[in-house]
Amino acid sequence: MHVLRDVLKQTQKNGVAIGHFNIADLVLLKAVFASAQELKVPVLVGASEGEREFIGVRQIAALVQSLREDFDFPIFLNADHTHSLEKALEAARSGFDAIVFDASALPFEQNVRQTKEAVEALKSINPAILVEGEIGDIGTGSEIHEKAPDLAKGLTSPEQAKQYVESTGIDILAPAVGNMHGMLESMVQGETKKRLDIARIAQIKCAAQVPLTLHGGSGTDDEDFRQAIAAGINIVHINTELRVAWRRGLEEGLLKQPHEVVPYKILPFAVSSVGEVARSRLRLFNSDG
Ligand SMILES: [Zn+2]
Repeated sequence: MHVLRDVLKQTQKNGVAIGHFNIADLVLLKAVFASAQELKVPVLVGASEGEREFIGVRQIAALVQSLREDFDFPIFLNADHTHSLEKALEAARSGFDAIVFDASALPFEQNVRQTKEAVEALKSINPAILVEGEIGDIGTGSEIHEKAPDLAKGLTSPEQAKQYVESTGIDILAPAVGNMHGMLESMVQGETKKRLDIARIAQIKCAAQVPLTLHGGSGTDDEDFRQAIAAGINIVHINTELRVAWRRGLEEGLLKQPHEVVPYKILPFAVSSVGEVARSRLRLFNSDG
């Protein structure tokens, strides 16, 4: 049986990170799963509130569980950015392996109070579930943004991280360390890259002593990824890069076959385009040094 907590411990020991990819349909799930299978590395698929609403909460849970069991493979499911306790409980009851309870938009004290309450309620449904909490500002929306948000004022401090982890009982922390959700057009073109505050990651890891997740990984410099993982990042989220690849693949499938109407002849172009991105990111996150 594959258990996320154990896999997380093992990756931490090996100095590698688990790739987390958001999915909203079967194309993305197929591409991500095939990539992880090919490389023989564990993988986390995530579904945000919006993605869950589209694909179905219980339905995505059933799909991922069937892949894990039928292929005896370490693929796990995370309820990404869940803002209400009600939605978090729904995901836990449906069999999700992890929940990102995101009250980071609230003032620190309120974030602590709500997250602590969520941790207790979620663990009472499933004691093995992993709960991730977030402090700091990493922007919203895994899409193409016109201009960069000012993230400097929302960076997570090591002291705050320690206090937050201790007072909430979360299993995993998502800090703000120069990362942001979404990409700028220049990042999609490959002209600019996101840069991370590596020293801050190391300080937060040392203070908080829990696994760390890097959100908004799309468009980040490869070397920064390597250093961030070495400094203590255990899970890396990629969403926008997959969405860009999904659209490009779909367009290619339609353009190359202007009269085709059979979905399973058009959609493989998107599967292959998304798979290329997922494979290259998984390869990077799982190379130890
Ligand atoms: Zn995120």
